[in-house]
Amino acid sequence: MISAKDEEMKKVVLPEKLEFGKLFTPHMFEMDYDENLGGWLEPKIVDFANLSMHPASMVFHYGLEIFEGLKAYKQIDGKIALFRPEKNFERLNRSAARLSMPQVDIDLALQFLNELILIDKDWIPTKENYSLYIRPLLIATDPILGVRPATKFKLLFILSPVGPYYPEGFRPIAISATDKYVRAVRKGIGECKTGGNYAASLLAQKEARARGYSQVLWLDAIEQKYIEEVGTMNLFIRFKNEIVTSPLTGSILPGVTRDAVITILKEWNYNIVERRVLIEEVYTEYEKGNLIEIFGTGTAAVIASVNKLEFNDRIIDFQTEEAGELASRLYKEITGIQFGKIEDTHDWIRIVE
Ligand SMILES: *Cc1c(COP(=O)(O)O)cnc(C)c1O
Repeated sequence: MISAKDEEMKKVVLPEKLEFGKLFTPHMFEMDYDENLGGWLEPKIVDFANLSMHPASMVFHYGLEIFEGLKAYKQIDGKIALFRPEKNFERLNRSAARLSMPQVDIDLALQFLNELILIDKDWIPTKENYSLYIRPLLIATDPILGVRPATKFKLLFILSPVGPYYPEGFRPIAISATDKYVRAVRKGIGECKTGGNYAASLLAQKEARARGYSQVLWLDAIEQKYIEEVGTMNLFIRFKNEIVTSPLTGSILPGVTRDAVITILKEWNYNIVERRVLIEEVYTEYEKGNLIEIFGTGTAAVIASVNKLEFNDRIIDFQTEEAGELASRLYKEITGIQFGKIEDTHDWIRIVE
């Protein structure tokens, strides 16, 4: 095991522009699981390196993979903070249960994550609104082609210094709703952060991009009438008298940012309602002049204001390159808490030390 003291701290020079998820820090966490050896084996922090895996490993064939995404922030007083990291590991365990994968000890995971971040702490960018993206992943490694629950797994944490998720920065994005494809269905695996959901979404994303839309808005898979979520974000719609977001129906990802936004909006006395919203309703309210703002929420982008929504031939266009008023206020509030500029009254921040 490598400890921060043994490490000769070299001066880290991060590139001026950080494209999301392209650069990785020198260390990673690794822990194997083997049902026949009694479960989890020795947790290790090792040099970041390629994995050597059997080509029959189950992850390659049947998509037995789950992941998480959270961030470490360098706060204005120099402390390193995580935002509700236990929520990510609770969700990892819910994804694991659904995919017949083993449960992870949350305290142990947080302890090693803490240690890993301290070892690579010089890789946390200090530029405003930059952070260290943390990607935990759990993969099935049984070298067997038979389709059945796996018995061998690998848990990894890798770290990536990141800037803003969208090349647009905090400028608004355009999204396109589709009824040509579906992402996930209730009682399936839509509420799990698992590779297959994203694999299923990429063709639609490619087609939307070709028309100038950066993300796909998914509708419910059964009727394809109700708004669910965006590629990697939950969606909020602000009508004149109400802010709405899809309830956790089982097919959408229960976002940590979504939960924080709902809490904050309630405190700000907004009428925030979790209910099913017809895509049709968004268009009719828009035509009546009752649609004020649309925004997405997720760890990577935090808040992304939406200035354009396409559905078949119909386009809602706010005709502005400015982020919406409430989206901007929420972005300031949440990043303010994360970077220690605003008091954490919710006990959301965990200091890494
Ligand atoms: C990760 C993700 C989200 C956002 O979840 P956060 O916990 O807020 O980061 C929303 N939808 C999908 C599909 C996701 O993968």
